[in-house]
Amino acid sequence: MTAAPLRTVAFDLPTASHPGAVGQAWARVPAPLSTAGRAEAAQRIRALLARENAVLVAHYYVDGDVQELAEATGGCVGDSLEMARFGRDHPAATLVVAGVRFMGETAKILSPAKRVLMPDLDASCSLDLGCPAPAFADWCDAHPDRTVVVYANTSAAVKARADWVVTSSIALDLVADLHARGEKILWAPDRHLGRYVQAQTGADMLLWQGACLVHDEFKGTELELMRAAYPDARVLAHPESPSSVLAQADVVGSTTQLIEAARCLDAPRLIVATDQGILHKMRQRAPGKTFLAAPTAGDSATCKSCAHCPWMAMNGLAGLAHTLEHGANEILLDPALARRAKAPIDRMLDFADTRKRPVRASGDLARDGALFQRVGPA
Ligand code: SF4
Repeated sequence: MTAAPLRTVAFDLPTASHPGAVGQAWARVPAPLSTAGRAEAAQRIRALLARENAVLVAHYYVDGDVQELAEATGGCVGDSLEMARFGRDHPAATLVVAGVRFMGETAKILSPAKRVLMPDLDASCSLDLGCPAPAFADWCDAHPDRTVVVYANTSAAVKARADWVVTSSIALDLVADLHARGEKILWAPDRHLGRYVQAQTGADMLLWQGACLVHDEFKGTELELMRAAYPDARVLAHPESPSSVLAQADVVGSTTQLIEAARCLDAPRLIVATDQGILHKMRQRAPGKTFLAAPTAGDSATCKSCAHCPWMAMNGLAGLAHTLEHGANEILLDPALARRAKAPIDRMLDFADTRKRPVRASGDLARDGALFQRVGPA
């Protein structure tokens, strides 16, 4: 497919607040607990989850102890689409979201009757910070002929202005569908993901110029050197990475898709261009393989060599226990705004449901036995 010319609009990150927010986040990352302290905190959280009729919903990028606790207590570890679905469908009265603020807001939007708590409400995201709602609304107003598609990493106010919300796992399918229907797209906020989707689908897209501060630091030239040093390695990259990195990737996908690729790919060594929090799950799913962080070299890098999100790192066991004990850090949204933000999220979830592969019987009962084994008498 021949890609349409890429169109971009100039937009600067709010430099006055952005660096300060990053520095404050690192300052609030909890100190590591001792082995005994971790066990004690986990025990306390288990009891509090039961007391509060609460369930823990965690992202792949948060601390490994938090991920394990979520799974051990009947909660969920997933990407933002899976977190949104799980929180919506779970019967618990309280959702405790271990991730960043837009994930807590999405949980509240989809489950307005539930209480949604987070370890730290200041756990933000550079994409969210770089797309303030008033400027975004002005941009939409200037392009009334375009369908507005926003990434999940945005505030409730930005979502409320959108026609569609997408996560990285559904973005390609949705934009391809809109393009096939002849719709022109206004895309925000991640410029790298937008450029990737535009190149793959050929859709007519105007791109907001936001970026994830973790993925933006991965360097194509240094990645070439690393691949030369490890010729048996394969590269897994999240599409929030720059195009010079994506061009070298064997697999480009959402966090869930990359974890599955780590398991399936026949390679002993994998170079991973996404937040290094994901390695906890990759090591569980693909034991015996070696994982290398994609290079973030460069003296100007804001998160040099760490490849870890400071806001995700703010989620720890002590904060979770405190939140549950005191009902602290509740997500509260204006109900009218939340209703407006819910419509484009529901559209995405409905669209994602239509993309599930239908199960069809072949007509051969021996072959279809597994299909029918849970079907009772007619
Ligand atoms: S890793 Fe990037 S996209 Fe994800 S929350 Fe952090 S800053 Fe936002």
